[in-house]
Amino acid sequence: MIQRLLLTAALLVGGTAHAYELLRVNTDPCSNAQNLFWSAKSVSVSVLALPAPYNGLAVEAWQRWNASVSRFRFSAGNGPPCTRDGVAAIAIADQPCDQSDFGDALAITRSTWNGDGSLVDADVTFRSGTFLMDDDDRFRQVAMHELGHVLGLAHSDACGKSGAGTLMQAVLSGPLLLAPQPDDIAGANAIYPSGSGGGDGSVPPGANSCAITPSGGDAVAPPLAALLPLLLWRRLRRGN
Ligand SMILES: [Zn+2]
Repeated sequence: MIQRLLLTAALLVGGTAHAYELLRVNTDPCSNAQNLFWSAKSVSVSVLALPAPYNGLAVEAWQRWNASVSRFRFSAGNGPPCTRDGVAAIAIADQPCDQSDFGDALAITRSTWNGDGSLVDADVTFRSGTFLMDDDDRFRQVAMHELGHVLGLAHSDACGKSGAGTLMQAVLSGPLLLAPQPDDIAGANAIYPSGSGGGDGSVPPGANSCAITPSGGDAVAPPLAALLPLLLWRRLRRGN
């Protein structure tokens, strides 16, 4: 069974091992802790805080995810930035949602989740004044990257793989990407599997290098404190 699943995964990414990694409750994508997921297999996205043309580009970004993945869906929503309202709001600002510093990041997604991995909220902030504001295609690419975090993907190069050619690589470099790539899509489909168990965040054994194992050390009931929403920052840095 495991071998068959591994073969399927290899075929999906053109004969090479997949690179995708998943956001997890302990913030370590390389662990076997429970991964993060939207229990409804969907989340609404608000672009109301974005001026043109960025609002339209952000809509294109979530629509291209929808056109690529099997079961997860983004939809149009309405909500202010940086509020824990269950709406993925996208904004451009001088500071990310926690009023800290962007560092070298072009954009930051703040995700909030419960101890069981179910996501509560995720908001995206683009740093104002970067070159993205003058490059529609790259802005859309970064919006797609951040929406990958929103749906539950970690960086494809977070656990030792290059992630080359994937949307979810941590550093923006390489050719322009106009849509999620096969490895990104495989990751999203792994978070939201088909069947009655879909949406519970389960990952088939062998489908992910950080797959949940039946006897994994992290597969214990989370302590009470972990049931409180935690915060995770995802950073996308500019390459050379
Ligand atoms: Zn990122």
